[in-house]
Amino acid sequence: AKSEGKNHFQFYRDELNTRAHDRLVLENRIRTAIDKQHFQLYYQPQIHLASGELIGLEALIRWIDPDHGVISPADFIPLAEDTGMIGRIGDWVIDTACKELKLLHAKGLDQIKVAVNVSAHQFKNGEHLCNVIQSALQGHQLQSKFLSLELTESILIDDINETIRSLNDLKGLNITLAVDDFGTGYSSLSYLKTFPIDVLKIDQSFIRDILEDKSDKAIVTAIIAMAKELDLHVLAEGVETVDHNDMLKEFGCDYAQGYYYCRPIPIEELIERYTEQS
Ligand code: C2E
Ligand code: CA
Ligand code: CA
Ligand code: CA
Repeated sequence: AKSEGKNHFQFYRDELNTRAHDRLVLENRIRTAIDKQHFQLYYQPQIHLASGELIGLEALIRWIDPDHGVISPADFIPLAEDTGMIGRIGDWVIDTACKELKLLHAKGLDQIKVAVNVSAHQFKNGEHLCNVIQSALQGHQLQSKFLSLELTESILIDDINETIRSLNDLKGLNITLAVDDFGTGYSSLSYLKTFPIDVLKIDQSFIRDILEDKSDKAIVTAIIAMAKELDLHVLAEGVETVDHNDMLKEFGCDYAQGYYYCRPIPIEELIERYTEQS
């Protein structure tokens, strides 16, 4: 039959095919990147607000593509997650973060911790995750107190009983557990007393306008007060200015992370920056 020009359905189908095609292309490129090890970890300092001291680093993945340059995680983590490829990437992230933290420790900064982001796929394969963590710690001779995992609220509320079991297994390794993007997950607060977690990371969307926005200010002070009662530590993300910093310090927030202190940078740069003789 002859085509009568593209009707709506045809447009729709072409659109779907293009998107499916794009996904397939990206999927193959990610696979190649895994095989050729085109990933790198950047690190962003986490600062103890009262003393101004560096206490930890968050490891943030970058894809260094020979043709396209640096690709940010937002552009490939979601697809890697959908396809399960995040499994292999995530294993690599844990091992590499432990390995590179040891480099920092060897330079005298031997009390710094590293925080690694964990995806839903990794969290659901709890036994594998525990094994990977254990062999990374052992392989690089790193004490468990130096490793922390960041899990988003949305991962945790999927199946509460399963979550409690998995968190207890992870906590059994003596690592630190942090809830990432806290405040954005629409979840019940009651789980905070059941989950064996140590740190709440206040999402950067609450920090951005904290100077002008009364509701943001109220939310942040409420989170800090609640965390104190529950014996949790609080870290504010997206601290970009000295005003952000001073206000959070005044509110009694424990830790801060953001462009005000440092952008995410490769480990060599971080070592240079923090071991410079002044
Ligand atoms: P996230 O875990 O919430 O990480 C914080 C993001 O905020 C990072 O973006 C960081 O570069 C950015 N950021 C830090 N300070 C500031 C600031 O002062 N202002 C603003 N506007 N942004 C700031 P990035 O590196 O692009 O990572 C985006 C997301 O990708 C992460 O959000 C995390 O969910 C995911 N991701 C990154 N690395 C990994 C990884 O190794 N594994 C997994 N599963 N996810 C990762
Ligand atoms: Ca994070
Ligand atoms: Ca976050
Ligand atoms: Ca986020």
